[in-house]
Amino acid sequence: MAYRDIPVRQPMNQDPDLARAIEALRARLGGTLLQAGDEGYDAARELWNSMFDPEPALIARCTDEQDVMAAVDFARTTGMLTAVRGGGHNAAGMGSCDGGFVIDLSPMQAVQVDASQRCTLVQGGATWASVDRETQRHGLAVPGGMISSTGVGGLTLGGGIGWLRGRHGLTIDNLLSVQVVTADGQLRTASAEQNADLFWAVRGGGGNFGVITSFEFRLHPVGPEVMFLATLYHAEEAPRVMRGWRDFLATAPDDIQGTMVEFSTLPESSEFPPEAWGKPVIAVAGLWAGEAAEGERRVQPLRELADPLIDLSGRLPYCEAQQLFDEVIPWGAHRAYFKSLFLDTLDDDLIDTIAAYGTRRPTESTLFSVWRMGGAVQRVAPDATAFGDRSMEWMLSIDTVWDRAEDDERCINWARGFWEDIAGRSAARIYLNFSGLNEEGEHQLRTGLGEDNFRRLAALKAVYDPDNLFRVNCNIPPAPETPPPSAGRRLRER
Ligand SMILES: Cc1cc2nc3c(=O)[nH]c(=O)nc-3n(C[C@H](O)[C@H](O)[C@H](O)COP(=O)(O)OP(=O)(O)OC[C@H]3O[C@@H](n4cnc5c(N)ncnc54)[C@H](O)[C@@H]3O)c2cc1C
Repeated sequence: MAYRDIPVRQPMNQDPDLARAIEALRARLGGTLLQAGDEGYDAARELWNSMFDPEPALIARCTDEQDVMAAVDFARTTGMLTAVRGGGHNAAGMGSCDGGFVIDLSPMQAVQVDASQRCTLVQGGATWASVDRETQRHGLAVPGGMISSTGVGGLTLGGGIGWLRGRHGLTIDNLLSVQVVTADGQLRTASAEQNADLFWAVRGGGGNFGVITSFEFRLHPVGPEVMFLATLYHAEEAPRVMRGWRDFLATAPDDIQGTMVEFSTLPESSEFPPEAWGKPVIAVAGLWAGEAAEGERRVQPLRELADPLIDLSGRLPYCEAQQLFDEVIPWGAHRAYFKSLFLDTLDDDLIDTIAAYGTRRPTESTLFSVWRMGGAVQRVAPDATAFGDRSMEWMLSIDTVWDRAEDDERCINWARGFWEDIAGRSAARIYLNFSGLNEEGEHQLRTGLGEDNFRRLAALKAVYDPDNLFRVNCNIPPAPETPPPSAGRRLRER
């Protein structure tokens, strides 16, 4: 990856200025500052994708905004390559960096709920498990992701696509404000009323604009019991199942527009009957966002698209539904390469092409899925958030998963081949939270966010992060033609 090529400063013990800066940072931090050999260092450097084994020179485990401000000051004044870690889930390994400095937000997990105002304040290092647990105490939810150990930070900044999207939109569509430490070390509020340009940029522009210390989200009544759809069909039924699923969704209500079909192989697990172990399947999965009893009736046709191998559908607590897929690809267990593609249509020919890959996956643990992007997701203008165009109807997500380093090339090439096979029939636009290894660089940002949004983001990057301090991400380079801000004047809070 490009950012791994950026040279790191000389070894810390040979640089007296750096050594002094480290001691000053240690004195300012309420949390801990870890180096190789320290207790907790190895645990703190772990990422979800075991293909990455970064060894940062320093990890600042931040506990509050003051810690983050101290860490950003250190990063700016020393010039060390700096990564920001939220949940550490990014499949491209962007929550850390080799030999550099990691601003680790994982101790910042607090979630406060104001049930009367239907909003929640979530610290920047929280995972969706904490958000779901705290909000569900009040029968409320934020539309987040589908795996509870994913970080709220990275998922939200890239858009956020979860089960509730059909009814309530992307995660960013439910964001009310953020507290953000920008590259100059200042803590700012960004919302529709304050620093509105910055608020626009963080809704899809990734971690380019600073470290978000807290997110304020709108809450919706959900559950506590929901109807979850999980009907598994033999993979050879995929063409028929996908056609039926597509046709059902053409007139289905928003409550079930956040659904997907997923190709996988059933593992040897007590959850499944032994005769199904090792069978390639296509699952139709989704969460009815409204009342469970109505959902049970309304999703019934999706349980009868062919003769099911197993039907795990049923009513269950929302928090459980949010954790159903956690063990499919557990934390730190595998090597992975995730690449996505938005699709405008899903015609029969495309269905047949995609379905054929169901039995050609490079490993049994590799999955791929087609996600419906209808309902509330589509009712947001392309320039309303940095995320860009919302007209896409579907998303293909290729989640390649394997165990041995010697299979890296084979598995990554398989995913790229699959992606290229389908990309020619689309606008070749990637969801930036599933961006492979970012090998397409700026090009993927221009197509992903749209040219106008990309230019607007680059101009804002030049204002808020002119030296590209925050570059271990899907990086938006500061626009060269934008004059640098006149030291704080343009940036200062009113
Ligand atoms: C198994 C799996 C399931 C997934 N499921 C979904 C899903 O259902 N829906 C979906 O939309 N996405 C999903 N994703 C993708 C996920 O949204 C991205 O990988 C996201 O980057 C993860 O965020 P994180 O905070 O855990 O990651 P990290 O690796 O910690 O960070 C990722 C990026 O975000 C930046 N970042 C994180 N937190 C902050 C912060 N507070 N302030 C500033 N920058 C920050 C980091 O600097 C880095 O560039 C999934 C990924 C995996 C591996």
